[in-house]
Amino acid sequence: MNVHDSEKVRGTLIQKGYQQVHAVEQAGLVLYNTCSIRDKAEQKVFCRLANFKKQKAAGKIFGVLGCVAQHKGTEIFDQAPHVSLVCGSASYNDLPALLDRVEAGEQRVEGLRLDTDDTFETPLTRRDNPYKAFITIIEGCDKHCSYCVVPFTRGPERSRSSWSVLEEAERLATQGYSEIQLLGQNVNSYCDPSATGMDFAQLLAAVGRVSGIRRVRFTTSHPRDFTPDIIEAIDDNPVLCDQVHLPVQSGSNRVLARMEREYQREEYLECIRLMKHARRDIAIGTDIIVGFPGETEEDFEQTLSLLDEIEYDSIFSFKYSPRAGTPAANYQDAIPDTEKSRRLALLQEKQRRIQLRRNSALIGREEEVLVEGRRERSGQWIGRTTQNRVLNFSAPRADLSELRGSYCRVRVTGSGPNSLVGVLVAKEAAPAFHGFRILQ
Ligand code: SAH
Ligand code: SF4
Repeated sequence: MNVHDSEKVRGTLIQKGYQQVHAVEQAGLVLYNTCSIRDKAEQKVFCRLANFKKQKAAGKIFGVLGCVAQHKGTEIFDQAPHVSLVCGSASYNDLPALLDRVEAGEQRVEGLRLDTDDTFETPLTRRDNPYKAFITIIEGCDKHCSYCVVPFTRGPERSRSSWSVLEEAERLATQGYSEIQLLGQNVNSYCDPSATGMDFAQLLAAVGRVSGIRRVRFTTSHPRDFTPDIIEAIDDNPVLCDQVHLPVQSGSNRVLARMEREYQREEYLECIRLMKHARRDIAIGTDIIVGFPGETEEDFEQTLSLLDEIEYDSIFSFKYSPRAGTPAANYQDAIPDTEKSRRLALLQEKQRRIQLRRNSALIGREEEVLVEGRRERSGQWIGRTTQNRVLNFSAPRADLSELRGSYCRVRVTGSGPNSLVGVLVAKEAAPAFHGFRILQ
């Protein structure tokens, strides 16, 4: 989501007449987009800002955008006095006006309002990838998970109208994009503000019908709002990818209740059961937090047993990080960092073995991949399957311009925990290259 926000901010700046450069040294204006989901991410911002400090003398203007800007607010001006602008994502529509003030020489310009029903839509979005595009469909979050800073940094939930989403999808298709990823903190709560009144499953199905779009993904889903019609939509249209990311956070009902996730293990497992019974072979991913305050060994064992029960295709796992202002930051029963690290290592090792097993079961299968690039050293092409697995493959005699951006059929010949390897079976002509930077 941050990557896509940066793409939209870039478009906004280009519309205002700025040009993009590739090194801080060449820039007159440096905007630093930030994440505050965990403390480590936030610490990085201040290290990076300290490195930039000397450049203020060279007449550069510095701004901090995103969740750290929103969370720390004007404190940033005190901590990093060379910063002239702080702006959270809920105020990005104000960026052009805020930048005018900064350019006019104002020192401490802030865009920190959260009481908004705006979504950030830009006439120009400068995308990094020429084949795969993000589209934000919903911003903010109305949930109140006790560990999470997002509701404080991204404001309340605001859905974008379905016509605007579909118009963007159609425009992207005519520009040569073939894969779309719908974005939101909780895409399942999507609620079309226009008269069409679509819900998420209807919007997903409608984007899947846009001519020229061959793949649609979405992230991220909340188990509480995950409905069977999403799976029906996937079953009905092969354009909707065989992949669902459904963050569980913990396998223990006691921890889930303290996290205020609004579901129990059994309800979550019911969503998984629906996916596993779909006609399509849906790859399932999740997010897990270990070491939440009060998480006992038994609670943790329940998370491990959930991995065995579900056999996820991929997980993102994190040590709990206390965030100021969230209810869990005041919980007294913190888990020591060494113990969090031990649990994280155990969890990741279990998952590594599961992925090894699941990936090796794919050997011999033929997969369609979107070709994303080529590894310079090995000469192998990098493809991605509908299940979002990386499939590196060899394709004798094909050169770079022939495959990038095209869809190929590849036979899987080997596997590791995080990727597959294979050989090209058949290729399609690549769409005409239409500008912007090619992925390395
Ligand atoms: N809206 C998404 C999550 C966005 S944040 C959802 O509800 O699923 C992405 C992930 O970061 C979360 O799923 C969670 O696993 C992790 N996360 C959020 N806050 C955290 C914290 N305080 N400490 C550790 N991990 C956290
Ligand atoms: Fe954070 Fe929960 Fe909202 Fe996800 S649903 S962004 S974890 S508050």
